[in-house]
Amino acid sequence: MRSNSNARSFFLSLQFRPQKVGFEFFSLPFGENDVPLQLFFEYGTLKIYGMKVLKFGGTSVGSVESILNLKKIVEGQDEAVVVVVSALGGITDKLINTSKLAVSGDASYLTAYEEMVERHHRMIDAIITDTERKQTLLATVDELLGQLKSIYQGVFLIGDLSEKTSNAIVSYGERISSNIVATLIEGAKWYNSLEFIRTKKKQGRNLFSNTMSQPLILEAFKDFGNVGVCGGFISTDCVTGEVTNLGRGGSDYTAAILAAALNADVLEIWTDVSGFMTADPRVINNAYPIDKLSYVEATELCNFGAKVVYPPTIYPVCIKNIPILIKNTFRPEDKGTIITNLVEGEDEGRAIKGISSINNTSLITVSGLSMVGVIGVNRRIFTALAENGVSVFMVSQASSENSTSIGVTDDDADRACEVLNREFAKEIEMGAMYHMKLERDLATVAIVGENMKHTPGIAGKLFGTLGRNGISVIACAQGASETNISFVVERKSLRKSLNVIHDSFFLSEYQVLNVFLCGVGTVGGSLLEQIAGQRAKLMKERNLQINVVGIASGHNAMFDRNGIDLAQFEEGGKFSIARLRAGLKQAEASNIDRLKEEVIGMNIFNSVFVDCTASAEVAGLYEDLLSNNISVVAANKVAASSDYNNYARLKATARRRGVKYLFETNVGAGLPIINTINDLINSGDKILKLEAVLSGTLNFIFNTISADVPFSETVRLAKEEGYAEPDPRIDLSGKDVIRKLVILSREAGYKMNQEDVEKHLFIPQSFFDGSLEDFWKNLPSLDAQFEAERKEVEAAHQHWRFVAKLENGKGSVALQRVGERHPFYDLEGSNNIILITTERYNQYPMLIQGYGAGASVTAAGVFADIMSIANI
Ligand code: ADP
Ligand code: ASP
Ligand code: MG
Repeated sequence: MRSNSNARSFFLSLQFRPQKVGFEFFSLPFGENDVPLQLFFEYGTLKIYGMKVLKFGGTSVGSVESILNLKKIVEGQDEAVVVVVSALGGITDKLINTSKLAVSGDASYLTAYEEMVERHHRMIDAIITDTERKQTLLATVDELLGQLKSIYQGVFLIGDLSEKTSNAIVSYGERISSNIVATLIEGAKWYNSLEFIRTKKKQGRNLFSNTMSQPLILEAFKDFGNVGVCGGFISTDCVTGEVTNLGRGGSDYTAAILAAALNADVLEIWTDVSGFMTADPRVINNAYPIDKLSYVEATELCNFGAKVVYPPTIYPVCIKNIPILIKNTFRPEDKGTIITNLVEGEDEGRAIKGISSINNTSLITVSGLSMVGVIGVNRRIFTALAENGVSVFMVSQASSENSTSIGVTDDDADRACEVLNREFAKEIEMGAMYHMKLERDLATVAIVGENMKHTPGIAGKLFGTLGRNGISVIACAQGASETNISFVVERKSLRKSLNVIHDSFFLSEYQVLNVFLCGVGTVGGSLLEQIAGQRAKLMKERNLQINVVGIASGHNAMFDRNGIDLAQFEEGGKFSIARLRAGLKQAEASNIDRLKEEVIGMNIFNSVFVDCTASAEVAGLYEDLLSNNISVVAANKVAASSDYNNYARLKATARRRGVKYLFETNVGAGLPIINTINDLINSGDKILKLEAVLSGTLNFIFNTISADVPFSETVRLAKEEGYAEPDPRIDLSGKDVIRKLVILSREAGYKMNQEDVEKHLFIPQSFFDGSLEDFWKNLPSLDAQFEAERKEVEAAHQHWRFVAKLENGKGSVALQRVGERHPFYDLEGSNNIILITTERYNQYPMLIQGYGAGASVTAAGVFADIMSIANI
């Protein structure tokens, strides 16, 4: 603001243009449809050089902090400014709710009213320090509040709330706030919007009348000084003089109307976000401000629900080519968004600028065979709807022309159906058309960008992304201008749709993978440790962000759709499994049902469920998870080795839903055995024979047994080293190896179940029949016999190996003695080895060998599976 207002020159020119300038009719929700907006030019122009219109929304005048920011922003301007303000944040809602209380005879309306009085008084006390000015302001404000009280009393006593009264009540928010702001700003003059913003009633709606308002605005501002302040939103009817308004959010519109009428240099919308964002920041927390938008893009985004600007706002300034700048009152230093008439080619931005959505969508489908090629059906549809005041925001028609789907708001849905059933009653009776089909609980999403038309493949990418995440598109529409693709989805998929689209179009700098981890034993703990350690590097080098969105043990679980902060489990700068487990114990109690509910209910995109348990219950969730487009990575072998039909169904579901079910670590821990078999088969090879030592525990036992370490002691050591399954009997009974062999055989293309495997046990069955305690107790009774046999094996220069074999489609497991020349002879510690004989690797089989057990290599294998889902 200039310090010397008298020195500022202004220029006033009145031009009369008797003929209408030929602008196209443009329908706006709150425009005066019968009067084209070119009339802005008809009554002359007032051009105040170096002038801006600044609009401050509810939150910008809602607190002491924000209103003082407003003061600073306005007083820091170099140009003259017209300031348009909303009611104090939340007051409009409160005015409405209080009138509802009053009309229903609820005496508590008085308390609600008093709260509003209190709020305004407190604000005035905090920001106006000059006593004299405070008194004058309080006199005005109290006068207004007094009127408001009388109106409420009337409503309460009569029990009637007409539209006229409602409109009067709701206007007090802006009437009061504008007076407060005008007193707060040095040298400001208060202007009464009710005197120059006029509306006209049409089809039950109060539409802004430019014809009536324009001369009044010019008159009101003809001797405009340096700073003017007025309330947004409020208006008066041009016929009755009653108080009306421009609709919720209408202060933006008031500001645009003034900017256009006064030929401002710029219209600035000051709000609580740093610009027009790529998506609604309340839904998408990594949405970010867009630098530049064209008027067309901004209009499309606002029409589809981007609340940051009230949709009718754009047109009046657009036809005058006045830029709109969106700024953050709380962070004035942020750049904000500039909306202009971007010239094609000038904007090198992304193809898609933003995404917006409307969540109350109903879809009506008009269909019937007689519609095909018949001229006039669409005319009848839209005429009937328009005549009944139903506004249609999306239309989709197949080129076969036998159905047209129309998107309307939920409130209009029943009426629209009724109207159309009536309109086509004859055709429906004759069977040429069907009754209208109404689908509710839907949402509409629009992706917007003028550069879309120069970029092929946008629709493909959009629908591909949605499909991969299990979101069905119910209807879609793309105009030939190609600045917008809109589509309808179930309302419950809205959040996920916005997330996946936002992620794939705006955050392609890095990809997000959302991980649920079940099981925090040695493998799960080690996996988290590895994720925590690799996260930063993956982000930097692979552009992959791994978010752990859920961690569950058998009894507790924690969830956070934005990612659980793993740093909270650090100790001495390093991730600590113990701290995690302790933290988890404090978390909410959980069980299998809650786990399923939370994971599926979170309905989050790009998600992977990682099972590091040995639980059959958890394995029982996979089918539902996969069906909900959640990939599954399992260290748990239960599912892959369960009944063949179950295994086959899981694989089929994953294929059908376009997600992955991976279990590389089920066999040979981190060794790439299953992947290798898959690669061989996928490239046309055939697996003829598999021979393998697949039990790290058993191999450890037979490598450790010696004259000094008896058999029972080796089992104990295997358990201590963490090689064995939680219940070592699963290893010693050969069950674990059988499960692995079954999994490998299935992956190799053979239909095999555990019962089909021929087993030669080395411990009598009776040892497995009792309890675990009995087992440990009885185990030493085997030591003598093992020692006798061990001596024989040693004398013959042989080694014991527990070998799993697939040959001629048959599986078997047996403890074998192998000689020095056998490839299995030298197999250290808990290592695994597998020989794969295929049509290609025939005379010399392929050999894979290495660590076959241990938490950290298994966790690394699970991590590798997770990474392969990220597909990088
Ligand atoms: P004001 O009271 O200042 O008029 P509004 O609440 O009407 O503010 O509009 C600003 C709000 O719009 C933001 O706080 C944000 O939550 C919401 N919003 C929705 N979509 C978008 C978007 N695409 N960009 C920015 N804000 C958006
Ligand atoms: N105060 C009005 C509302 O809350 C107008 C506005 O803020 O734009 O809708
Ligand atoms: Mg608003």
